[in-house]
This record gives sequence, structure tokens and C-alpha cells, in this order.
Amino acid sequence: PSDQPEPDASKKTLVILGTGWGAVSLLKKLDTENYNVIVVSPRNYFLFTPLLPSCTVGTIEHRSIMEPIRNFLRHKKAAVKYYEAEATKIDYEKRVVYINDDSPVKGDVCSTEVPFDMLVVGVGAENATFGIPGVTEHGLFLKEVGDAQRIRNRIMDCCETATFKGQGTDEVKRLLHMVVVGGGPTGVEFAGELQDFFNNDLKKWIPDITENFHVTLVEALPNVLPMFSKQLIEYTEKTFEEETITIRTKTMVKKVTEKYIEAESVGPDGKKVLEQIPYGLLVWATGNALRPLVKDLINQIPAQKDSRRGLAVNEYLVVKGTENVWAVGDCAVANYAPTAQVAAQEGAFLARMFNQMAKTHEIEDELADLSVAQEKAPGKPERDDIFSQIKELQKRLRRVKQIGPFEYSHQGSLAYIGSEKAVADISWLSGNFATGGTLTYFFWRSAYLSMCFSTRNRILVLLDWTKSKIFGRDVSRV
Ligand code: FAD
Ligand code: NAD
Repeated sequence: PSDQPEPDASKKTLVILGTGWGAVSLLKKLDTENYNVIVVSPRNYFLFTPLLPSCTVGTIEHRSIMEPIRNFLRHKKAAVKYYEAEATKIDYEKRVVYINDDSPVKGDVCSTEVPFDMLVVGVGAENATFGIPGVTEHGLFLKEVGDAQRIRNRIMDCCETATFKGQGTDEVKRLLHMVVVGGGPTGVEFAGELQDFFNNDLKKWIPDITENFHVTLVEALPNVLPMFSKQLIEYTEKTFEEETITIRTKTMVKKVTEKYIEAESVGPDGKKVLEQIPYGLLVWATGNALRPLVKDLINQIPAQKDSRRGLAVNEYLVVKGTENVWAVGDCAVANYAPTAQVAAQEGAFLARMFNQMAKTHEIEDELADLSVAQEKAPGKPERDDIFSQIKELQKRLRRVKQIGPFEYSHQGSLAYIGSEKAVADISWLSGNFATGGTLTYFFWRSAYLSMCFSTRNRILVLLDWTKSKIFGRDVSRV
């Protein structure tokens, strides 16, 4: 027997999967009094991903961009249940989510099922590897806090190993070759941060590595940052050149081994060339792939048979082919890029919609009570009074029901490119601005600072920036 209280039977049960951008922005605006709200996620904190690349080199400490979900949920009007678990399967027909506690400490019960009336899927995406051999075994990703910590340790391990007594020249070169695959914003921001780390700190602390430390960014397409304007792409490529980061465009990685990657490019004679590029650190940032949970749900719903990149949703973010399942963020396909900006706006839209749905039910119940009261009213004056109340409520109901479809409002794209420079494509007052440079960097910093989840996060990030400026980044390997 469990001593946890049963959910309120008069309310619908709303299950939310995930504690990322989509799910948390939904929870922020949701009036939790209207539903039995249950949150399931293996991560008991929200992560401010835009500053994650800064954690790989210690410009920012990871806890500064994490907000415990418990801290946030305890401020909600009505209690929200949180289970630290992974949803392993959604059974759409049975309206049940199967969950599993995969953390090191397990109780007698570590897997169970959670029934739902309404379900929001906000589980994000996995790292794409395109089935390229060796990526999972030898590459490091950059999506979660653990990834950033692994990268930080690996950089230091490579530097310390390169200075080990008697290390041969080729091996030193290999160990100090930092390869980043994927020229999207994740790869570019990481490469920029890494070069900053070298220029500002590593060079000073470990002068022996100065000659051989090198960062290479490998991209299959003809240019990096395809979502930015041409001018900013050129600015980024020029800045990287000045920073001595090598960009290898039109180069597709085909295979990864423990010590080198195999990449295909087109040689000057137009023929394909396959070369082996030795590396010490390999960061793999080639975008998103579907989570198995999402793939499985797609397979259960005939209307989703053509969905390849995620759950196809309609303009109200309802998963096509269902009535009571919604999807937000990177696991949903609604013709927008998989960004935090989109996920956050989708989550906020769902919160407004769910709040209004609850109001609609409340008014409909009141209307039903009033029509019964009207029939039982003893005389005409009482009936007239109830009639005017009904009219008023019907007007309110029409107003409440008027919720338009989801419309994404693009605020612009921002990326840090290293050496205190950033690029920004901003939509402002119906105009578009493309800017890059040091001023943009201060804009980037203030924009991200203002977007941080809480005042606590904002202060911690500011302190970290100050700390790393004054004392340099910490080069300990833990
Ligand atoms: P996520 O934020 O990834 O959250 C998914 C949640 O689901 C997590 O809590 C996870 O633990 C949970 N989960 C996973 N599996 C399960 C499961 N089986 N059951 C239950 N829960 C599960 N976008 C921008 O707009 N601007 C930026 O500057 C920017 N910078 C970025 C930098 C980096 C390094 C990265 C990796 C991404 C960046 N993005 C940026 C993209 C942005 O982070 C994503 O688009 C955004 O996180 C998507 O939100 P989401 O809610 O769909 O998923
Ligand atoms: P991405 O999908 O934007 O870029 C991945 C890149 O990897 C592509 O350009 C692709 O051509 C390349 N690639 C794929 N396979 C390759 C191979 N085998 N060899 C070489 N190159 C290969 O991925 P991302 O940068 O991780 O971004 C994911 C999402 O998150 C995007 O929507 C992005 O906009 C968003 N994001 C935004 C920001 C920001 O706004 N500052 C930062 C990070 C991520």
C-alpha cells in the first residue's frame, strides 16, 4: 500500500513528460489548480542550454544554469507531482505512460504506470549520429550537463597527457588536436569557447602546449551556421581564421575510431578524397534525432505514418491522429527549427489553452446548473433574472473559447563565436538586423542573462563571468 494521496477524481489528470524548455514554460504559466498535474522526467532540473557551451571550458559553472524543478514547482498554486523517471512507453490506446526510475538508487518499486486523461510530450531529442560507426563509442556530445563535464575533463586530460614525459611529437600533435564535427550553432559556439580557453588560460598555465594546440571544425555543407545571413556566415568564418580555428567545409565524416576520424572531401581535381584526421578530443554536434519513446508513439498512430523528424502536430499542437496528446519542442514537428525559442513559445501557448479549456468547462457547468434553476424558478421575475445571468455567461463562454492557433514569433538568432564576438540576426520592429562583433557580444551576454530562468541563475552566471575574468578558468581535472 502507498501512503501518497489519490488524485482528485473531479479533475482531469494532465501528464507532462520532460523538464526542458517546452515542458517548463508550460508549467510556468499553467494554472495547476485546474488539473491533477504530474511531471515525469529523468532530469530533476531545468537546464538553460544556450549557456551550456560555456560550461565545457569553465567560463560558467554548470550549476549556475540549472534550476531545480522542485524549487520551481513548490511555488505553484496547487501541488504538482514530480517523478524522477524516464517514460519508457506511451500506450496511446490504454492512456497510460510506463515509467522507470533509472537512477543509481532504486526502491522496491522502480517501474510503474501513470494513467493520463491529457498528455504533453516534451522529451526533446537525441543526438544524431546517422549510424556513423564509432561516433557513440569515441565522440562526446554536447546536450546535457554530463556532456559538458566530460568535455571539460577530456580537454584537460589531453593537455596533461600531451605533456607527459617522453611523449612523441606526432602523439603530442594528435592529443592536442581538438576536432568539432558539425558547423551548426552548437559546434561553432563550442569551438569559439575552446579557442578562448586556450588563448586566455591554457597557454598561460601550460606553455608547453602552445605550439601544438589546434581546433578544427568539420562541416559537410559548403558553410557553417546555415541559419544565419550570408554576411554573418562570412564574418564568423573570418573571425575563426583570425583565431586560428581551421574550418573544413564540404567535408563529411564517415567513420570514427579511437584516435582518428575518416572524412570525405572533394580534392582540387574534383575527385573524392578520404583522409584520416587524428584527434585527442572529438565533439560531435550534428543535430537532433528522434528518441525511441517518440518513435514508438509514432508507430502506434496511423496518422503519423509519414512522420520522420518528430510527432506531426496541428496548429493547436495536438499530435495528429489523437485527441488528448500534445507535443512541444524538439520532439514535435510544426515547421519551425528545433530551438529553445520555439519550444518556450509552444509551452506557453499550451498553458494558455489549458487554462482556457478549464475555464470553458467551469462556465459550461455553471450554465447547466442555471438552466436547471431556471426550470425550477417559482415566478417570472426569478426566471428573467436567471435568463440574464445565462446570457452574460454565454457571452463570456464565447470570449473564452476564442483561442487562435499557435503562431511562432521569431525574435532572432544569436550565437557566440569566440574572442568576445557574437553574431545576431534580429527581427525588430518589423525590420531585420544582421550584426556581428564586440557590441553584439555585449548584447548576446545581456540577452542571455535576462533570459536565465531565475534571479538566482542570473546572479550566479554574472559571478562566474567575473570570476573567470579575474582568476582565469579553472584547469583542474576532476
Ligand atoms: P529539452 O530542453 O531537451 O528537454 C527535454 C526534457 O525531456 C529533458 O528534461 C529530458 O530530461 C526529458 N526527457 C528525455 N527523455 C525522456 C523520457 N523518456 N521521459 C521523460 N522525460 C524525458 N536554442 C535556442 O533557441 N537558442 C540557443 O542559444 C540555443 N543554444 C543551445 C545550445 C546547446 C549546447 C544545445 C544542445 C541546444 C541549444 N538550443 C538553443 C536548442 C534548445 O536547447 C532546444 O531546442 C530545446 O532544449 C528544446 O526544448 P525541449 O523542451 O523540446 O527539449
Ligand atoms: P544543426 O542541425 O544546426 O547542425 C548540424 C550540422 O552538422 C549541420 O550543418 C550538418 O551539415 C553537419 N553534419 C551532419 N553530419 C555531418 C557529418 N557526418 N560530417 C560533417 N558535418 C556533418 O545542429 P546543432 O548545432 O546541434 O543545433 C541543433 C538545434 O539547436 C538547431 O535548431 C539550432 O538552431 C539550435 N541551437 C541554437 C543555438 C543558438 O541559437 N545560439 C545554439 C545551439 C543550438
